[in-house]
Amino acid sequence: MDTDVLIVGAGPTGLMLANELRVAGVPAVLVDKLAQRSTLSKAGGVQSRTQEALDQRGLLEPLLATGEYPAGTAHFAGITLPLTRGRHRHPWRSVPQVVIEGFLEQHLAAQGISVRRNHELTGLAQDEDGVTVTFASGEVIRCRYLVAADGGRSTVRSLLGAAFPGRPGTTTTVAADVRLSGDTPAMTHARSEDGHWVSVFPLGTDPQGRPLRRLALGGPGRSLPREVPVTEDEIRDGLRAVFGDRVQLLELCYARRITNAARQAERYRHGRVFLAGDAAHVHLPIGAQGMNTGLQDALNLGWKLAAAVRGWAPEHLLDTYHAERHPVAAAVLRNVQAQSLLMDQQGTCDPDLVAVKDLFAALAHLRDVQYHLDDMLSGMGIRYPMPGAGDQPLVGLPAPDVDLGPVRSHELLRPGRGVLLDPLDRFAKVAALWPDRVDRAGQDSGAEPMLVRPDGYVCWAGDPDDLEPALTHWFGEPASASGGDGITSRTPR
Ligand SMILES: Cc1cc2nc3c(=O)[nH]c(=O)nc-3n(C[C@H](O)[C@H](O)[C@H](O)COP(=O)(O)OP(=O)(O)OC[C@H]3O[C@@H](n4cnc5c(N)ncnc54)[C@H](O)[C@@H]3O)c2cc1C
Repeated sequence: MDTDVLIVGAGPTGLMLANELRVAGVPAVLVDKLAQRSTLSKAGGVQSRTQEALDQRGLLEPLLATGEYPAGTAHFAGITLPLTRGRHRHPWRSVPQVVIEGFLEQHLAAQGISVRRNHELTGLAQDEDGVTVTFASGEVIRCRYLVAADGGRSTVRSLLGAAFPGRPGTTTTVAADVRLSGDTPAMTHARSEDGHWVSVFPLGTDPQGRPLRRLALGGPGRSLPREVPVTEDEIRDGLRAVFGDRVQLLELCYARRITNAARQAERYRHGRVFLAGDAAHVHLPIGAQGMNTGLQDALNLGWKLAAAVRGWAPEHLLDTYHAERHPVAAAVLRNVQAQSLLMDQQGTCDPDLVAVKDLFAALAHLRDVQYHLDDMLSGMGIRYPMPGAGDQPLVGLPAPDVDLGPVRSHELLRPGRGVLLDPLDRFAKVAALWPDRVDRAGQDSGAEPMLVRPDGYVCWAGDPDDLEPALTHWFGEPASASGGDGITSRTPR
């Protein structure tokens, strides 16, 4: 083997996965066909759960220190959800995708992992032991596992012949990065009575420190073929249709047409090949979900692949990647579909649709409705189907961040191992059986005892008799059947 894991595609998904594997002690080879990192402006925001994931690896603070990234308020179909402010440790934040990619690439380079550029995968064949990959240059690499993080038009997915059912794009809307006249709200969703609409989001600042905005706009007659270039006049016209003369376009930095294509791979695992990020799911970018879903695919897959490489993964572990992540993206596709319809993106002003939208807007004033939608859009409501998830309220959910005095519990996840919160020091003996895979925090914190996977999800809480089965289920057979005291005990510093 040339490498244990080959990651194809150094977009946000591939970069995050390379870091997850590195943290778990498995350096991967990461390749991309591009000679240089893409500077195309795509995703503009990071969800609460993605920020938690970065924070648990110690990456959030340094990322946010690279610029000014304003917090925003969640919205569903353009209906803002003000009652959800302050609900999570990290509010939705505007951080451009290019910043995240640049940050992750530099972070990896500092740890000795560089993206191998000008590497376009053109062929692959897998057998029982590994995958042989061919590049356009003629170079051949053999790996044990391959991850396709090569985007919505994934070559790997095509070469596998993997089913990618869904709907082709039928309409387009415009997405543009712009500077607008000073009195424009940083974030707004506005529409005219005749069906034209504009959404505005903060997008950091340009090199001169002037605020940039991401615009999305559409309405009757505005769905043009993807190849037709977006013009300044078109943007001005779209703004005028909604805001009159109140909002002026000062500068058009970048624009493209995006389609409403929606597809999801039927299977995320094909033997030794895994699909992740846009290679596994594509949809209209409403609600800032595509990149976030890809980053969280990487978080889910990283420690499991590392466990397989290091030889302790239980038989079923790699299959849980599909079982856990496929339903998440399927739900994203569904909520995007609902949002797209409610937003009446084509500006039909169909009275039936207006009636449903009005009703929905009225319901969205209810706190519980806002919380429900926020759970969906922040990533915080993701609950994985795990043994015990039916009985225990915490199991399957992102772990709460517990104050352990000198540290917070999420910091204990930095080494990429599992963490057993054991406030009453009851489980030292059992945890000692998995010394290399699970750290134990044994200080009385008032927290409920719980076992947290390396990706930050609770996989056991409650009945002490279920702890050892849960450890075996997620972390494999014990390293030491003797119960010797190889325990890695993390008493907070
Ligand atoms: C206008 C717009 C706005 C968006 N806004 C948001 C948002 O606010 N929030 C959000 O979460 N998402 C948003 N998205 C979606 C987000 O941009 C994507 O989901 C994200 O880029 C997916 O990341 P990825 O790493 O999976 O794939 P990509 O970013 O597509 O990266 C794939 C990489 O693979 C490489 N590659 C492809 N083929 C090969 C090959 N054969 N060999 C080697 N390398 C290859 C490519 O060069 C590329 O670098 C938006 C998208 C658009 C277009």
